[in-house]
Amino acid sequence: MTEKLYDKDSYIKQFTATVISCEEYFDNFAVVLSKTAFFPEGGGQGSDRGFLDNAKVLDVQIKDDEIIHITDKALPVSAEVTGVIDFERRFDFMQQHSGEHIVSGVAHRLYGCENVGFHLGEDIVTLDFDKPLSKEQISQIEKQSNKAVFENRAFYTYYPDKETLRNLVYRSKKEIEGDIRIVEIEGVDMCACCAPHVKNSGEIGLIKLLGVENLRGGVRIELKCGDRALSDYNEKYENIKAISAKLCTKQNETADAVLKLCEQISNLKFEITSLKKEMLEKKVNAFSPEKSVTALFEDGLEIKELQHLADALYKKCGGIRAVFSQSEKRIFLCNLCV
Ligand SMILES: [Zn+2]
Repeated sequence: MTEKLYDKDSYIKQFTATVISCEEYFDNFAVVLSKTAFFPEGGGQGSDRGFLDNAKVLDVQIKDDEIIHITDKALPVSAEVTGVIDFERRFDFMQQHSGEHIVSGVAHRLYGCENVGFHLGEDIVTLDFDKPLSKEQISQIEKQSNKAVFENRAFYTYYPDKETLRNLVYRSKKEIEGDIRIVEIEGVDMCACCAPHVKNSGEIGLIKLLGVENLRGGVRIELKCGDRALSDYNEKYENIKAISAKLCTKQNETADAVLKLCEQISNLKFEITSLKKEMLEKKVNAFSPEKSVTALFEDGLEIKELQHLADALYKKCGGIRAVFSQSEKRIFLCNLCV
């Protein structure tokens, strides 16, 4: 059983431990240490990354309370090694996971939602609730969650004894065997969880809910917290800035301006189609009905328009006809038949 340093302190960035075993694992190595600050994959969250001396930690898994570090280099058994956590990645995961606890706690308190799914990856975080939620309800959850951030609520993690646990009301995704670790957010939520969390909710930064979709009678919500929310804001801001400059409109009026533009494009397309139809009819009328072989090159036609031209020519002239068109760097050939 590996001693879990991350369990007691999620801010440990460096530690020393003894190598208990090191075995070949496909093209890499599986290393077990006496203790570790590396959080293994579990509960919907990816594992930590970093180094054990000069060996890169590629993945961390837990099996029967033994934590296995997958490394790119072998480490000598019984040696003392220094582990260094990629803390930028770890803190990002802490922000997302702690943010998820606040959102789930608020959704539970306000609307009786149960969190039935959670995925925390490098690019995307999603949480699933068992109940459908309206736009207004989601907006309320987001507002109350951010309020809990602004109030800088304390996070506590502990293993209550059986008696205390019996009297505790806490959220849990499944029945957990063995000791239960409780993550309590002062006045906001209480949930069984084994992952590292922030000390105070202020460290989470902004909580933003995005991309809501209906899923198995409930909803799946995409979540961005802290730096991810800031990056998302910056990316969208740059996009809106570029669109508003191009359309010569205010940034908060770009949606209306784009809708108007789409309407104009649609009207123009309709006009172009009518004009093209008129022009093609004139072309077909210019052909002599006695001409049995017809070949025509007409640039800029879509495949449907080309088909229409070929049909009209066939009706007028019969015989063999081939119609070619070059559009968007492609050449179409339509209806070559007797
Ligand atoms: Zn959790």
